[in-house]
Amino acid sequence: MPEPAPVPEPPYPVDPRREVAVTILEDPWPLSGYAEPGSCYPDKENTYNDHLLFACPGCGKVGSIPVRHPKAKETWDLVAGTISQPDSLTLAPSVHCVGCCGWHGFLCGGNWQLKYEPPRTTA
Ligand SMILES: [Zn+2]
Repeated sequence: MPEPAPVPEPPYPVDPRREVAVTILEDPWPLSGYAEPGSCYPDKENTYNDHLLFACPGCGKVGSIPVRHPKAKETWDLVAGTISQPDSLTLAPSVHCVGCCGWHGFLCGGNWQLKYEPPRTTA
């Protein structure tokens, strides 16, 4: 009898409470479907039409959310920063990764964290 196909598992340790700084994702859609948890794709050409491509901070599963400013229906508000520089981004409201590990938190100033912090204003 052939061995059953292995169930694909996240290649990163799963932690639905992880807080992590954004790192830069080189490939928008890795073949494995996973990337370094919390990494984001800097979409400099806006190929994905104002979508932030990111790897879930909890498990690394790659997905995307639409962002706008001002916020439109069924989008996230781009409070600060730009998609081309995801390590500067603040989004609202919270991001809830329902299709994977259930990570639920915020992207604030380029950090995935469990509590919201408004962007620091520079004088
Ligand atoms: Zn996840």
